[in-house]
Amino acid sequence: MTLMYTIAAEAQNAKPEPQHLKPRPPDHNRMTHTHAGHDSVMPACPGNDSVMHAQAGIRRNRLTAPRPRPRIRLSRVVFRGCLMPSHYLAQVEIDGLEIIGYSVAGEETVVAMPQLDVCFDIGKAPDQIIAVNHVLLTHGHMDHAAGLAYYLSHRNFCGMAPGVVLAPKNLLGPIRDILQAWGRLDGNSIPAKLVGVEPGDEYAVKPNLFARAFPTKHSRGSVGFTLIERRKKLKDQYHGLTGPQIVELKKQGVEIDYRLDIPLVTYLGDTQYVDFSQLDYIRTSRILIAECTFYEDDHAGRAEAGRHMHINEFVRLIESLDNEHIVVTHTTARTPMSEVRKVLKNDLPKDKYDRMILLMDQRRGRRHTA
Ligand SMILES: [Zn+2]
Repeated sequence: MTLMYTIAAEAQNAKPEPQHLKPRPPDHNRMTHTHAGHDSVMPACPGNDSVMHAQAGIRRNRLTAPRPRPRIRLSRVVFRGCLMPSHYLAQVEIDGLEIIGYSVAGEETVVAMPQLDVCFDIGKAPDQIIAVNHVLLTHGHMDHAAGLAYYLSHRNFCGMAPGVVLAPKNLLGPIRDILQAWGRLDGNSIPAKLVGVEPGDEYAVKPNLFARAFPTKHSRGSVGFTLIERRKKLKDQYHGLTGPQIVELKKQGVEIDYRLDIPLVTYLGDTQYVDFSQLDYIRTSRILIAECTFYEDDHAGRAEAGRHMHINEFVRLIESLDNEHIVVTHTTARTPMSEVRKVLKNDLPKDKYDRMILLMDQRRGRRHTA
């Protein structure tokens, strides 16, 4: 199985040190490449005085949670400038981390974690995610990528820094073509920072938060992403030393720290079954965001044809993973949420079922807090 080999090879070849991917040099005069800022409060759109603070964005007081949270500086994204958001998004909160999104197979998929400053796929670019600085695009299907030009263009309109888009390397050419074409149609160039990724690549989203790409089995070049918090820990033998002693060791060039990677979130995007447990950072991610599209017994062939996950494969996958929370995405309008829940409850071991959160079951004013 080619992909299995690829995953195993990728795991072995994982780069030992963080590598900040460099985007390709600008190759057409319609794009401006600059660094996107982090942790910034976005300015209101020009010409719109009706600023609505955090109408659908993240409020500061939600950041308090009883459980330990990542030691990364959480972004504060303020959604401003529109009388009414374009989308009504599902909201989930896990250990103080907010997930907002919409994901229906064939219709639209966009899943954002504003505090981590990332949006997995872009869907049709809901207003609530325009201020998020990084889009992590898994593949080029329309329902996942249609809003890319609007996201980038609207950021420019609102005076924000160019959006950063991580996308499979083989898609950068077509993305540039689309942005150029839209620029000609619109009469304004569309600034963007495009970064091509391949399995094993990492990109620093924040100083100690890295997005790592891994291969999925869906379309040519398709990838998923894991967000990894990277800490430095003092080696055991140096515990108990005084400050000056540590400074002295550092002066002597002694490596007193070791690197500790903590996988926070894995987003699979669209994919057929792959034994993702081969990659430890996926298996142990605190949160897994995974697709499961088909729930009827006789739909295994359709799952295979569309390269999506069937419930039987999903169960096999989940049984091999150790994630604390599993957010299920890419359900279909054809299968009611109550039926999806029933099938999951029936087919999964109880301890696994208890970790399930159905993203699209959190709409209609409901809000899941774990
Ligand atoms: Zn797809």
